[in-house]
Amino acid sequence: MTQPFSDLGLDAELLRAVQDQGYETATPIQAQAIPAVLDGGDVMASAQTGTGKTAAFTLPLLQRLRQSGGGRRRIRALVLTPTRELAAQVAKSVDTYGRHLPLRSTEIYGGAPMGKQTAALRRGVDIVVATPGRLIDHLDRGNLDLGGIDLLVLDEADRMLDMGFKPAIERILRAVPTHRQTLLFSATFSGPVEKLARQFLTAPTVIEAGSANSTAEAVTQGAYFVDTGQKRALLTHLIDDGDWSQVLVFTRTKRGADRLAEQLERDGIRAQSIHGDKSQGQRSKALAAFKRHSVQALVATDVAARGLDIAGLPYVVNYDLPNNPEDYIHRIGRTGRAGDAGTAWSLVAGEERGRFKAIQRLVRRDIPARVAEGFEPSVRRTAGPRRGPPRRAHNSRPGRPA
Ligand code: AMP
Repeated sequence: MTQPFSDLGLDAELLRAVQDQGYETATPIQAQAIPAVLDGGDVMASAQTGTGKTAAFTLPLLQRLRQSGGGRRRIRALVLTPTRELAAQVAKSVDTYGRHLPLRSTEIYGGAPMGKQTAALRRGVDIVVATPGRLIDHLDRGNLDLGGIDLLVLDEADRMLDMGFKPAIERILRAVPTHRQTLLFSATFSGPVEKLARQFLTAPTVIEAGSANSTAEAVTQGAYFVDTGQKRALLTHLIDDGDWSQVLVFTRTKRGADRLAEQLERDGIRAQSIHGDKSQGQRSKALAAFKRHSVQALVATDVAARGLDIAGLPYVVNYDLPNNPEDYIHRIGRTGRAGDAGTAWSLVAGEERGRFKAIQRLVRRDIPARVAEGFEPSVRRTAGPRRGPPRRAHNSRPGRPA
C-alpha cells in the first residue's frame, strides 16, 4: 500500500515541497484523496488526525488554486476547523506545502487580536484557514468577502458539530457560492456528519482510509481499573515507574486539568495544563514547553487538545473517560502518528465502567484492563436495597477484572 507522491498528479512545485519534508510515500488517505480532489469533484473522507489528512487536502487544494489563478487576489479557498490549534496547524501546512507557490494565506481564530487579522485580510489573501466563530465576527464587520470561494474544506467536521458550530457553518455556507468544490474530512461518519454532507456536498467521492471508528493500528491500548481517589497516585506511579518522558493526559473538566497539573507538580513531575480558559499565549507556551521536553506531562481538556500534532508522542492517558466515546478516538490519535509506536492508557473508575464498555463497542475491540498492585479498586456495591445480612467480601479478590 505504498504509493509514490509522483503518481498522484501533483505539480513539480508541490512534489518539491513534499520532498523538502522528507516524506517518501503517500499515506493511504493521501493516495486516495489527492487524485479525487484534483479531479474537481466533492470529497467526503473519513480520516483521523495522524493519518496525513492535512496534506491530503492541502496539496491538491494548492494545486487547484494555482490552476484557476489570475486576476486580482481574492479569497478562493476557505478551510474551517474546530479549534484555533488546528487552524494554526493547518495554516502551517499551507505555508509548508505552498512554499514554492506564489499564494498567500492567513489564519483567523478567536483568542487573538482582531486588528492583525483584519489587516491581513485587507492586504489580500488566496486562502483563509479559520474557526467558524471568529470567521463570522469578521463577516459581520464586513472584513471579508466569501463570494469568490472556489474551494471549501470542512476539517474535522464531526468535531465542529460536537462543538455546536452547525449554525455557524450553515451561515458561512450561505455566504459562499453554490458552485464550488467542497471537501469534508471527519474522524467518524456519524448521522449528523452524513446529514451535513447531504446538505452541502454534491455527489461526493467517499473515501474511507482505514474504516471509520477504527483506532489507529499503531496505538497500543490498555486500561487500569482504579478508584477515582487513587487515580492521581497511580498516574504518578506509572510516569515514574515507566520513566515516561512525555505524556498527554486528558481530563474532562478545565478545573480538573488545573488541579491535576498542580498535584503532579507536587509529586515532582513537571506538568502544565491547557484548556479553553487559558489565553492563546498561555496555551502556545505550554505546548512549546511540552514539545521541547521541558514539561513532562501536559494535562488537557478535549477541546484544547483537538488536532495537536506532537511528533513522536509516546503516551496518552485518559485520566477521566470522555463523555462522548468518539472523543476517545480523537484523544488516542495524538499518539502513534505517522507510523511511530504509541500507547494509550485509560484509568477507569467503578462509575466509568459503562462508558468504558461503550468505547470498546465503538472501536470494535477489547481494550485489556488490569489492576495495578497497590492500587486495587475497592469492592463495588450493587445499587438497590440490600436483602439479608451484609455479605462479607474478604474471601474474594476485590475488584479484579473478570
Ligand atoms: P495529520 O494527519 O495531517 O495531522 O498528519 C500527521 C503527521 O504526519 C504530521 O506530522 C505530518 O507532517 C506527517 N505526514 C503527513 N504526510 C506524511 C507522509 N506522506 N509521510 C510521512 N509523514 C507524513
